[in-house]
Amino acid sequence: MWKDERISKATFTRRDALKIAGAAGVMAALPWGGTPDAEAAAPTLKGPQGGGYYRFAIGDVEAVVISDGSLSFQPIQPTWAPEASKEELEGALRSAFLSADRLHLDVNTLLLKIGGELVLVDTGAGNLFGPALGKMPERLAAAGVQPAQVTAVVISHAHGDHFGGLLDGTGKPAFPNAAYFASKTEIDYWTGPDPDMSKLRIPEANKKVFATNAKRYLEAIKDRLTPVSAGQKILPGLEVLSAPGHTPGHIALLVSSGKETLLHAADTAHHHVLMFVHPEWTSAFDSDPTMGAETRRRLLDRAAADGLRVLGYHLPFPGIGHVRTVKGGGFEWTPEPWNWTS
Ligand SMILES: [Zn+2]
Repeated sequence: MWKDERISKATFTRRDALKIAGAAGVMAALPWGGTPDAEAAAPTLKGPQGGGYYRFAIGDVEAVVISDGSLSFQPIQPTWAPEASKEELEGALRSAFLSADRLHLDVNTLLLKIGGELVLVDTGAGNLFGPALGKMPERLAAAGVQPAQVTAVVISHAHGDHFGGLLDGTGKPAFPNAAYFASKTEIDYWTGPDPDMSKLRIPEANKKVFATNAKRYLEAIKDRLTPVSAGQKILPGLEVLSAPGHTPGHIALLVSSGKETLLHAADTAHHHVLMFVHPEWTSAFDSDPTMGAETRRRLLDRAAADGLRVLGYHLPFPGIGHVRTVKGGGFEWTPEPWNWTS
């Protein structure tokens, strides 16, 4: 058994540690011979997380989820699940071992390589939401991609955490060589004279900021912006699905290659517990909460019935997994295991 390489390596490490402890003139105080002294003190493990991107594939389509950062809401209500009683909300979160005080949402942009095209789906928040977001550009670079190499950008809907990264810090288009795609309904809604925001349950001043920013960013890319509709294929294997309610023209995407499929659900279900266990629970940001809940149930039903692989823009990074139905009419989010080899 002593020929086992792992064991001899462990023995060497232990002897080495003993030698160091001996040279420092300190009595071995720990069972394996090491001694925590000032010089050999372990470094802190606190600091920024590394990486921020996750590579995977859908058939022949190469893909990488690039985190733009994360959003935090405190208190949770009335922004999220305003129709739930305090007890129901706390019960749902606590049964999933989550804080009942603060809601955490990740922001997962997706880059696809389809044929020779590099397609970015949503851009993160840019500089619209403060320092916890806007990290997509540096992580895109870390993943080995320059903004000028991105040939298409799809915007699932015109909320700032999805379009803010369209412009760089100087207000110029961040992806100089890209064609842009968003649903016709969405473009018409935000660029029209008076978008109906009567069902949003946020302060009037915030509605104005939403509308002003959406118009400004859509105007900035309008020369290269192509309106799309449900059923349309932006590229072979990249199909637009209608998913209205969160905004009037909110879209989901179906990415297909060979036998593999990914349903990019965008903001159909923001939180992996609240809106799966209770698909009828909504968000104050929904332009039509009832329609949003219907869309959520329809898409989650389809994902569960067909066993579709799903990506959610705000689900825990990298936001890839499957959906199961559960007794009582709700759903369960089953995240995909992290795969180091993809
Ligand atoms: Zn969003």
